[in-house]
Amino acid sequence: MTRTASTNPRFSVLLSAASAHVAKDDAGTINEPPSASFGSLSLPWQALAASLDSETSAALVDYVHGRRKLTKDVANRIADCVMRWALKHGATHYAHWFHPLTQIPAEKHDAFLARGIQASHVPMEQLPGSLLLQNEPDASSFPSGGLRSTHEARGYTAWDPTSPLFIRADGGCRTLCIPAAYVSWKGHALDFKTPLLRALDALSREVSAFVNTVTSSNACTSVTATLGCEQEYFVIDKGFAALRPDIAATGRTLLGAPSHRGQQLEDHYFGQIPSRVLAFISDVERELFRLGVPVKTRHNEVAPAQFETAPVFEEINVACDHNTLTMDVLRRVAERHGLACLLHEKPFAGINGSGKHNNWSLATNHGENLLDPGAAPHDNLRFLAILAAVMHAMNTHNDVIRSSIASSGNEHRLGANEAPPAIMSIYLGSALDVVVQGIAEGTVRSVEQLGELEITAKLAVKRELTDRNRTTPFAFTGNKFEFRAVGSSASCAWPMTLLNAAMADSCKALRARIEKKAGSRDKAVLEVVREVFKETRRVCFEGNNYAHEWREEAARRGLSNHTTTPAALAVMADRAKMGFLAELNILTGDEIHARHEVFLEKYVKEIEIEATCLLELSAGYVAPAAQAQIERTGAALAGVRQAGLHSKNLTEELEALLARYGALAEATADLQRVRASVGHDAHGMADKLRAAMATVRREADALEALVADDLWPLPKYREMLLCGV
Ligand code: ADP
Ligand code: MG
Repeated sequence: MTRTASTNPRFSVLLSAASAHVAKDDAGTINEPPSASFGSLSLPWQALAASLDSETSAALVDYVHGRRKLTKDVANRIADCVMRWALKHGATHYAHWFHPLTQIPAEKHDAFLARGIQASHVPMEQLPGSLLLQNEPDASSFPSGGLRSTHEARGYTAWDPTSPLFIRADGGCRTLCIPAAYVSWKGHALDFKTPLLRALDALSREVSAFVNTVTSSNACTSVTATLGCEQEYFVIDKGFAALRPDIAATGRTLLGAPSHRGQQLEDHYFGQIPSRVLAFISDVERELFRLGVPVKTRHNEVAPAQFETAPVFEEINVACDHNTLTMDVLRRVAERHGLACLLHEKPFAGINGSGKHNNWSLATNHGENLLDPGAAPHDNLRFLAILAAVMHAMNTHNDVIRSSIASSGNEHRLGANEAPPAIMSIYLGSALDVVVQGIAEGTVRSVEQLGELEITAKLAVKRELTDRNRTTPFAFTGNKFEFRAVGSSASCAWPMTLLNAAMADSCKALRARIEKKAGSRDKAVLEVVREVFKETRRVCFEGNNYAHEWREEAARRGLSNHTTTPAALAVMADRAKMGFLAELNILTGDEIHARHEVFLEKYVKEIEIEATCLLELSAGYVAPAAQAQIERTGAALAGVRQAGLHSKNLTEELEALLARYGALAEATADLQRVRASVGHDAHGMADKLRAAMATVRREADALEALVADDLWPLPKYREMLLCGV
């Protein structure tokens, strides 16, 4: 059988993928430096303020800092200035850009056109201040977790001036996007931004007060968190994605036998970026530069066709929006390059999945990094106190932090041997661990200063204080923590909301403990630090988090290991454990309850979509391919017999095919039964339905090896991962 498109559409995609990109000879190319276009389509409030008259500018600055509201006149002047900027850059429409509790941000575009409201009926452009400040989308179709009935449709979006306005250029259109928070008519948070902004208020208040208590001063007036997120993703030829109903419906492959060449050779990580992908990534970067997103790093990741993009860290609210924007730009630009960017946590079984390491730290109003240990951490009381608060937060709110990264996609990573497990622990690194243990034992030990590491007589490198640990979910990495367990498709805003809330709560608790102690302030601080270092030993783990022994050890220490999403989310129903969010004015009990409902419902729907899709793949793709092969082998065997011959091979092949075909039919019927029996029960889906899906997959993947290449309808792993990128 020849490999032509008429025999199998897979082959035409293979051929077009092979010739999709011809690398140019770039010897004469000189690109403009990133700074030349950086931020040209972005308008941060500072730049906006600078372009206003002094009175309006001062009003905006006060508004951003929450010192006063905007009057109608001032709001109109600001909106007019924003509109003029947008028109100058070719925007015709504006949209409040907000992030409901769904995978992607939402936007409803309105033209600046204001014909009809003028007496003269002369067409003109207008953006009234009231429409910059707030909008009113019909909220009935967004998830609310029961906070709203379907007929109560009203919702509000409110401009968040701390996140830069930006212009999205796509499809020949330019649209002014206004970052916004989104709440219901009654004021309940229905998005990812609102709780983050509230958590940042709490963080600033509580960490500043804590720092001032620890340092016996009033110097710290505000604190913000910083975030740099390393975004991992896969890139495959768009044609392959189009031929895979599972990728279209679920973002991942639900079946597929492993590629002969996966990541065994360990040669993809930091390898040369293929030229087609490099052309795509540099286009992504150019777009992100214009949008004011400071993308900095690009490299091949561990799995074939897997890559990473990381920015310079920013203030956390902006960083979260910028990460959402980065995911959006990655998807759109990939389309233009005939590629599909897969942001799912586990697009391909058997090779690494994708995460999004959230590098997190805290900065004071003086720009000091509170997690910078300095040269003598054992002597740096402020650093030790902040470290104690982080450890206290991880210990006290362990289950809450685990819940923040629970999703159907991330379920495939956490606990598998490529991503940190579902047990939340802290890695301090040997140098800091010595200091922490020393203080806990009452014998202060200093950090050993490491000199240079000589490679040859001429080459030397400066040694970092500690090694890295790739297996931990939460690592101290010099002057920040790296929350490594976040999923690649997640909005960073939710894990960052809960982490910052936990930190605010712990600072509040530790401040109260310090203030209760008698004696000098320094002594009181050190005593509390010592107590906390002792109390939180159970969440500190320096070893291999992938090892089975750690699971047993963690269980002995009383740490949870929730490997499924419903189990991880269960804490959201625990009022005692979630109550701190209401105390800090971040989320009320009702809002948490609603969010729990939304996350569970999303999980159930995603698994339902996966199961339905797998049933279709099994019945509509794999079974017919197996039948065709059975016919072909049967005919060959009949021919051989007719000639009076025997073929042991053909007989065995047919038997194997029939056995597997039967097993697939049985597994598929079982999946159907299990699906009916678990209904919408999330726990049943996590355990029983997932198991039934795995059995179908096992049989389908075994058949893939038995069916002739030209009869197999779905692009194969080896093709998607190795061809065209
Ligand atoms: P890795 O070596 O872990 O892959 P990368 O260089 O890819 O590290 O990413 C590290 C990330 O940490 C970058 O986004 C960087 O800007 C960020 N980062 C550095 N310092 C801080 C900080 N103080 N707060 C938050 N993020 C930070
Ligand atoms: Mg990295």
